[in-house]
Amino acid sequence: MNLVVDADRVLADLRELHERHGGPDGARRLAWSEDWLAARAWFASKLAEIEGFTFDRDEAGNVWAELPGDGEGFVIVGSHIDAVPSGGWLDGCLGLMAALGVLRALAASGERPPVTVRLVDWADEEGARFGRSLLGSSAAAGTLDPDDVRDLLDAKGTRLQDALAACHVDLDNAGAATSRLAGALAYLELHIEQGPVLLDAGRLASAVSGTFGDERYLITFKGQSAHAGSTPMRLRRDSLAAAATAALEIREVGIRHGGVCTVGAMTADPGVITAVAGSTEMMLDLRHLDADTLATMLEENLEACRAAAEKFDCEVSHRRVFGATPTPFHPKLVQFAREAVDAAGGGDGDPIPSGPLHDATEIGRVVPTVMIFAQSDPPLSHTAIEDSPEQALRIAIEAYGRTVGATLAAVAAGELEEARA
Ligand SMILES: [Zn+2]
Repeated sequence: MNLVVDADRVLADLRELHERHGGPDGARRLAWSEDWLAARAWFASKLAEIEGFTFDRDEAGNVWAELPGDGEGFVIVGSHIDAVPSGGWLDGCLGLMAALGVLRALAASGERPPVTVRLVDWADEEGARFGRSLLGSSAAAGTLDPDDVRDLLDAKGTRLQDALAACHVDLDNAGAATSRLAGALAYLELHIEQGPVLLDAGRLASAVSGTFGDERYLITFKGQSAHAGSTPMRLRRDSLAAAATAALEIREVGIRHGGVCTVGAMTADPGVITAVAGSTEMMLDLRHLDADTLATMLEENLEACRAAAEKFDCEVSHRRVFGATPTPFHPKLVQFAREAVDAAGGGDGDPIPSGPLHDATEIGRVVPTVMIFAQSDPPLSHTAIEDSPEQALRIAIEAYGRTVGATLAAVAAGELEEARA
């Protein structure tokens, strides 16, 4: 099935969205805000232009549109319109506008697709306001526990539950959104890479093999605060020296296993220039595509902390603050995406894993899923200077349409199983 998405129009939509709901200071589409609702209203007006279309909102606030097809089940295309404050013009929006382009192309063809195609705009992918990412997609995937998030506060002290209620979403009923995935055959998402891997490799687009599992820990080293002048070096119990030593070894663990390990922050107490640090708290984030390797990395990181603590006569304790298992994408869909990128002029390169989490991370747990990445240049995201070469966007948009086409053809031929949901 040859599905040609009008890349000019996708780019024009992206620029229009950026003009109306972004600007020189970046995106103005923070989830559960007036700005976000306004951007969604703009998007609804775009959907309304397509004939034969219905759209509505599920219990978690995700917006769904539907183009009916002939057979059983359905294929899902989409991404998210919400953005971090002052974010870029492509994160989330590229995938959503490309999904809109897919529906336009299908509607314009005049033929019913072999199965229904649904478009989704996931609610609050970024988690920028309350610190909880993937809210709408995790509700749909059945992994959201309302009690985990209800009392999260934004910077102004508003509770998450109340902010959702103001947008007519009942948090306790959000889990009913799982019904939207019953019968789903595939989920396909286009996104910018948001990192430097494709740029470094000189590639404009790529199929994505899956998203990294992610473990986050708070690690506390306890020594003894003491006078910086009177305490000889050999008699110190320096918690900051222990944490710094551990941090350097943690770096090596990431390198050794082909994953990523990040000590993003350290806070030393009492934190004065004339005292040995009595206690130091360190934030650790580690990610890998393979669950066993991630577990090994975690064990080696904790061992590095124990060894460093011992070396500096300190104690160490740790607390897990977040965990997400890896989501390898569906092998057949990854193959389709790889072939589509090649056919669109992006070359035949190995699929790359995603370090950032995406809605596809949640949906990929229950529905066969794949993503396509467009190169980011500069290789930065969550900033107003986020960008991609136009050629990369065009190739990625074409590859996305081709992947949807190949998926629909496979569905028509009975080659894709139903969702595990
Ligand atoms: Zn995104």
